[in-house]
Amino acid sequence: MARGHIIASVSGGLTFGHLAGWPPGPTFVAAAFAPLTSAGITSPDMDHWFHAGEHGPFRHRGITHWPGTALVAAIAILATVHGPMSVIAWGLWSGWASHLAADALFGKAYVRGNDGERVRGPGIPWAPWWGHWGLGLDVDGWLERRLVTPLVLPALAAYLFVLVTLGGTP
Ligand SMILES: [Zn+2]
Repeated sequence: MARGHIIASVSGGLTFGHLAGWPPGPTFVAAAFAPLTSAGITSPDMDHWFHAGEHGPFRHRGITHWPGTALVAAIAILATVHGPMSVIAWGLWSGWASHLAADALFGKAYVRGNDGERVRGPGIPWAPWWGHWGLGLDVDGWLERRLVTPLVLPALAAYLFVLVTLGGTP
């Protein structure tokens, strides 16, 4: 799914710049920075790196996957980052937010094997690290590997690229 997250984040940056009414230049800069926070240890999946077990805020798909954390980050950016640096900050924010959107669609409930306990619901937490809800589509399933990552996400990014370049409305 890392590849899917990276491609989706480009669309996240393009969408942000477009909705913010930015010209193509800053929008492309934002889209170029978005992948940095969409996959790996600089993404919401940094929780893999904590190895903090199955419960509590630092479990996988815990507080780093909560939309409220992204909201707090957005407020912090609005309050503290101004000028050209804000393009980079919002690009990084877009990458993070796109990861949450993708995980809300893809990611099944986590049911522990030996006793069948449902440790975590599908999707992302809508309370700080609990209350998981999402579509629960299969990461690495047919839909993701054959259709969404190789076709749908690149097509979306290409569409947004043209849209931003032409400066139009969809
Ligand atoms: Zn994730």
